[in-house]
Amino acid sequence: MDKYKALYKCRLCGARFYGKTFATTARDAAGYVVHMAAGVCGLSPTEPTGLHLHECADGSMGLAVFLGMERQPTRVAEEKTESGLLED
Ligand SMILES: [Zn+2]
Repeated sequence: MDKYKALYKCRLCGARFYGKTFATTARDAAGYVVHMAAGVCGLSPTEPTGLHLHECADGSMGLAVFLGMERQPTRVAEEKTESGLLED
């Protein structure tokens, strides 16, 4: 099963990083992105925030913005394990 993680980019240093929010379906991930684009956030505590503080590598404090929900494909081995195909 694929997973989608909230991706942010720091405006100051350019670093990309994941927030704590994730979704397990494309529908939920798309919903988070659409809500953010519409300026609707905070509908539930699990939704991503539009802005995020970033502690940059040089000690600066940057402002990171929400880019979207990035898909994290499941590795084939994990899928096989989940379906029981690799069991002895
Ligand atoms: Zn930064």
